[in-house]
Order: sequence, then C-alpha cells, then structure tokens
Amino acid sequence: MTTTNEVTLSFEIFPPKNDTAADTLGRTLAELAPVPASFLSVTSGASGSAARATAEQALAYGDALGGVPPRPHLTCVQASRGEMEELVGACLDVGIDRFVAIRGDAPPDQPVYTPRPDGFAYADDMTRALKAWGARDVAVGAYPEVHPDAADPAHCLDVLERKVDAGADRILTQYCFDTDQVLRWADAVRDAGIELPIGIGVMPVHNYAQIKRFSDRCGAGVPRWLTEALGDLEPGSSLAMERAADIAAEQCRKLVRNGLTHLHLYTLNRSALTLAILRRLEAGPEACRWAA
Ligand SMILES: Cc1cc2nc3c(=O)[nH]c(=O)nc-3n(C[C@H](O)[C@H](O)[C@H](O)COP(=O)(O)OP(=O)(O)OC[C@H]3O[C@@H](n4cnc5c(N)ncnc54)[C@H](O)[C@@H]3O)c2cc1C
Repeated sequence: MTTTNEVTLSFEIFPPKNDTAADTLGRTLAELAPVPASFLSVTSGASGSAARATAEQALAYGDALGGVPPRPHLTCVQASRGEMEELVGACLDVGIDRFVAIRGDAPPDQPVYTPRPDGFAYADDMTRALKAWGARDVAVGAYPEVHPDAADPAHCLDVLERKVDAGADRILTQYCFDTDQVLRWADAVRDAGIELPIGIGVMPVHNYAQIKRFSDRCGAGVPRWLTEALGDLEPGSSLAMERAADIAAEQCRKLVRNGLTHLHLYTLNRSALTLAILRRLEAGPEACRWAA
C-alpha cells in the first residue's frame, strides 16, 4: 500500500566564522531554498555582535532560503537581560518574532553551569520575558536521552514543564540516534499533558569522529550500530555519505510513521547530505510530502 505523509521541515544553521564558511553557507541556503521549510533556526553565535547587525543577518539567512522565517537561538549565557531585550527589540523591528530560548552551557573552564548575575538563570525565565516583550513563537529545547545536568528523566520532564508553563509555543529536541528512545520520550511528554508541537532534531552524520566527540560532550548516545556503519569510513566519501543519508532517512521515516511529523534537520551548514536525505524521503511507498 502507498501512503503519503505530510511532513513539516525546519533547518538549523550556525553563524559562519569566516568568509569561506560564509560562502559555503550562502551556497547551502541557495541549494535548500526550493524545499519548503517552516523556519530556519540560527544557533547563537559569539556574543558581542551588535543587536541590529545580528537581527539583520538572521533575516538575510531566511531570505537566502527563499523567505523562510528565521528563528534565532538566544542563550541565557550570551547576554545580560538588558542586552537580550535590545537584541529581541532589534529582531522585532526587522520582523523576526520567532526564537529558540536556550540556557546554554558553562564555559569550558567552569565545571558546572552557574547563571550569570545580570542575565536569565534558565530558559523558562527567558521564555517568560520573550513572550512579554512580544515574541510570537518561542521554541524550547528538550532531551530524549535526558540532559546531562538532570538527575533523571522525571527531573528533565519537570524542567520541560516549567518552560511550557512559562509560555513556550513548541519544543525542539536534541538529536538522538535511538529512535525508539525518541518515541518513548515523546509518549512520556504527551502522558505529562504537554500538547505542544514537537520538532525532532535529526543529525545527519557528516563526519563520524566529529559527531562522536560532540555527542560525548552533550550527552547524546552513539549506538554501536552507528559506529559499525560509519566509524571506519572516510568522512565525505561517497560510501559514508550514502550510509549517513540512509541512516537519517530511516530514522525520519520511523518518526513520521509514529506521528512525529516535524523534522528539524541539523544541516551543519551543508546541503549535500540534507538533500540526499530529503530525496530518499520523497521516494518509495511511504513517501513524505513537505507541508508548507
Ligand atoms: C534545540 C536546541 C538548540 C540549542 N541551541 C544552542 C545554541 O544555539 N547555542 C548553544 O550554546 N547551545 C545550544 N543548545 C545546547 C544547550 O545550550 C545545552 O544543551 C544546555 O546545556 C541546556 O540548554 P536548555 O535550554 O535546553 O536547558 P534545560 O534543559 O532547560 O536545562 C538544563 C538543566 O538546567 C537545570 N535547570 C533548567 N531549568 C531550571 C530551573 N528553572 N530551575 C533549576 N534548574 C533548572 C536542570 O538541571 C536542567 O536539566 C541547544 C540545545 C537544543 C536542544
């Protein structure tokens, strides 16, 4: 039997660090522009950029993706309350009213996260302020495998509930390669009475060693099957790209089949693997169609 699944997509990029990286991102956005995406999330860059320039840059990324609404990530660690209000005001002035509210992490030389005295302590405080300042849609982070600072899954769910109570409009998850774990977590979220839309973070493995290092830092598991499939392959080789696309597409299909129909793709500022995944999802008896 053939089924067609309506899927909402969003993409995540990070601000490029130099001109070469900016050129790569420009090409990526142009190549992804024909794909309908509901928003483009832009991770928080180094603090210190002028508010207006940051807002205009986010808008330019959205325009380069074909007029997709940008959604800047704002972290509690990046700015004081006053600086954050200025940044949000600059965003609202240029028409950006969607955000991702995130706590952020302690700098590498600090063992534990400590709220800055002049800033928001946690993402729930920031969410409350963003809504009061006029944000239309605030997404908050969530962790299918439990955040490393959380004592247990129940505490992690409590933290999510606080963010929902503070006015969050949607949830975006950390990536998790164990799709069954994502499904169990999503059931627990729904059982807790949280009905907000959930975008599931999907991380295509561009470079196994890099993802392994990053996952170890952020508490995401790297299953043995992933290591066996990709661990020995040359990053960027056609076999590595094919396998990585197959793996991510299979995860997306399983998520969609189980009702998780918003896929938030971490592009890592590159289009080839993202497009390869989308091509796979558009094909076959369980084909996905992108909802506008
Ligand atoms: C979708 C998404 C986007 C991200 N984008 C960025 C980014 O752009 N830049 C970046 O640097 N990092 C980013 N991160 C990573 C993020 O900064 C780290 O995972 C960080 O450790 C947690 O941020 P959070 O807002 O999800 O925290 P939460 O999950 O809300 O909280 C983390 C921990 O803090 C404690 N805590 C939270 N709220 C409270 C409270 N009210 N009272 C007491 N304790 C509390 C709990 O121990 C909790 O487990 C992102 C993560 C996700 C999932």
